Amino acid sequence: MSVGRHNYSFYKGFHSDNALDFSKRSSFDRDVMLERVYPRKLILPMRQHYGDECVPVVKPGETVTIGQCIGAPAPGTMAVPVHSGISGTVTDIRPIVLPDDTTCKAVFIEGDRKRTFHPSVRPRNNVNVSAATVMGIIRDAGIVGMGGEGIPTIVKLNRAKRFKVKELLVNCLQSEPYADSDYLMICEYADHVIMGAVAMAGACAVRVINILISKDRKNEITALRSAMERSFSKYSGYAFNFIYLKPRFPQGYYRMVARALYGVNLDEGEGLEGRCRAVMFNCSTVYACWNAIAESMPLCSRTVSISTEDGLLRNVIAPIGTPVSELFDTVNGISTTSKTIVWGNCFTGLQIDNPDVTPIIKTTSGVCLITKIQDATAPCTGCGRCADVCPMGLEPDKLYRLINGGHENAAAKFNAERCINCSACSYICPSNISMGSVIGGFAAAKRKKSSYPYTAVGDRQWVDDISLLSADTVKTSESRTKKSDSLTLPFEGWESE
Ligand code: SF4
Ligand code: SF4
Repeated sequence: MSVGRHNYSFYKGFHSDNALDFSKRSSFDRDVMLERVYPRKLILPMRQHYGDECVPVVKPGETVTIGQCIGAPAPGTMAVPVHSGISGTVTDIRPIVLPDDTTCKAVFIEGDRKRTFHPSVRPRNNVNVSAATVMGIIRDAGIVGMGGEGIPTIVKLNRAKRFKVKELLVNCLQSEPYADSDYLMICEYADHVIMGAVAMAGACAVRVINILISKDRKNEITALRSAMERSFSKYSGYAFNFIYLKPRFPQGYYRMVARALYGVNLDEGEGLEGRCRAVMFNCSTVYACWNAIAESMPLCSRTVSISTEDGLLRNVIAPIGTPVSELFDTVNGISTTSKTIVWGNCFTGLQIDNPDVTPIIKTTSGVCLITKIQDATAPCTGCGRCADVCPMGLEPDKLYRLINGGHENAAAKFNAERCINCSACSYICPSNISMGSVIGGFAAAKRKKSSYPYTAVGDRQWVDDISLLSADTVKTSESRTKKSDSLTLPFEGWESE
């Protein structure tokens, strides 16, 4: 059924020790950590994805239910809808600015504590649906890359078809210190991940599914293997492989995967699909896709790690749009006084000042409390350790000096724009110089004006003659049999349990 391939890795980066990886601590108890959060209010930004802003389709004073669409793409734009994760009343619609400087409208919802579901949210009795219908479900469920990239999943599926990819990669490589949300999700919902991967592979006509995971993730590997064995008869015709990678940060980033698996250094503007004939989805994204297919549940909640440097880690399932302060409220005795609040995980996240008005979005896998970020404790000694760990092969000490000195052209000449803002350099620096955020900020600002795999191959919404958002709508495709659709999923006769 599945084979394992071992020991792939990119070079550089670093391996989290037991102090940074909570799941390796003897006190770690994953079983008791998952609970659902029911916030008092939601703040739902209309732009939580790579692409264009949605348009609110509700008005202040209107009541909404769980799973209801409250923001829809404008015609001709690259966007996927936004849904409510609580029932309640819309109290306001106004512009907000997210910590990453995204400015967009947001819908504010006051919860009614009734947890009323929208009538469209119900288990699908028969998941024997066509590939085009799967695409439609995923698009209409508003699913985006939940590992942080935020690219609409329908866009990647269409690109995979366009480039005739040969492999679907399920990214189970969460490697940032303190982050655990993907691993918890795998242990709890391994069956959903496997079935979601099959559905997505079927949708883009791929027969090889590769699970990418660190070899030390024994519990998660066992959970996934058991899930495969349970449902193997339902997806014969698909080849599953485990590909074991060395535990390293930031191993899950698509460029590191390209280097580790295919020996390819992707250029700016290149994706895995075109160069490596592979398409990669984060495991939480895959889970969300199966949830949408089997339960008709759009992406309106997600697993989030709440962690503190003191050693506390809790994973919760929270509605998207939950203010960060309400997440911290779920943890007894936690205090944000004298701490830096991080929106995101501790290396790649962003510092925020007001957690009451900052919501988690579709790409937020964690929130952290860390010791106040300090100024450098000593000058640079030229030890070179930052360059040793930089996964992009940069010289962070030099770039930091150039950017701080206002020599932006020189920094660009030394490839500062290639920085992926992983902060491995800051972490390793014995002088505590926070160079990652400076170089990463510089690179992000430049990239906004630069190319990206999803715009470089065509105009905003099209690749050749294929719309990146094309799919059947659920209503039309389920009401008729599409004989012409040769990608029908392997679920004949199978009813969801
Ligand atoms: S790790 Fe810190 S001290 Fe060493 S070269 Fe880099 S910036 Fe300088
Ligand atoms: S933050 Fe940028 S410069 Fe620093 S290690 Fe990561 S990629 Fe290299």
